[in-house]
Amino acid sequence: MSTENRKIRLVMDLRNGGVTDTRVLAAIERVPRETFVEEAFLDQAYANQALPINCGQTISQPLVVGLMTQALELTDRHKVLEVGTGSGYQTAILSKLVRRVYTVERHRDLMPEAEKRFKALNLHNVTTMVGDGYKGWPGQAPFDRILVTAAARLVPPDLVAQLSDEGGIMVLPVGDASGLHQEVIRVRKEGTQFHSERMFPVRFVPLVQGIPEDKK
Ligand code: SAH
Repeated sequence: MSTENRKIRLVMDLRNGGVTDTRVLAAIERVPRETFVEEAFLDQAYANQALPINCGQTISQPLVVGLMTQALELTDRHKVLEVGTGSGYQTAILSKLVRRVYTVERHRDLMPEAEKRFKALNLHNVTTMVGDGYKGWPGQAPFDRILVTAAARLVPPDLVAQLSDEGGIMVLPVGDASGLHQEVIRVRKEGTQFHSERMFPVRFVPLVQGIPEDKK
């Protein structure tokens, strides 16, 4: 089957899985996932599944990327923080939909690859940082939207603090590190009021505090 046909089938799978936002589907169609997967998995680039990347991490399942991106209710005016750059695939999807993306990754070795991909795809609205995304990016806060792509045990308080209090939305997986009991939560912030909703079950790698060099 050709790449184009695989891509069409994947987009159909995402629609059937509940991704109905046409801007999100168009972004998924426009970002070549094969640029973000390891060579050994190229033939699975358009399969609806997570795949291994370096440092024991994963590129998320396309359906999960679609549903989490849709849950953020993005517009082209938004400034977004992503925690967990990984391969950079989710970053690239965000970059097509919003004004600016700030993305943080704790594994130093993953960032040069991701940056190379952003450059190759001419994504000029992405700013990267190696660091502990559990603490967010205080120098760039507040953010209209925050997306976390690794599972926290609890909603990280610094991230809540860095979310815009004028209708800010954060989407993140919460649950245990084993991945057996995790679900995506959406937090809405309005002034000093919070509202959180449980959305769907997922399986993510854990959000780890501190960067690898940080031996505590
Ligand atoms: N969005 C990525 C998914 C990568 S998996 C993609 O589309 O490929 C989750 C990533 O979160 C991993 O790369 C992991 O190293 C990173 N991560 C885990 N804890 C982190 C933290 N505290 N700060 C920043 N990144 C973190």
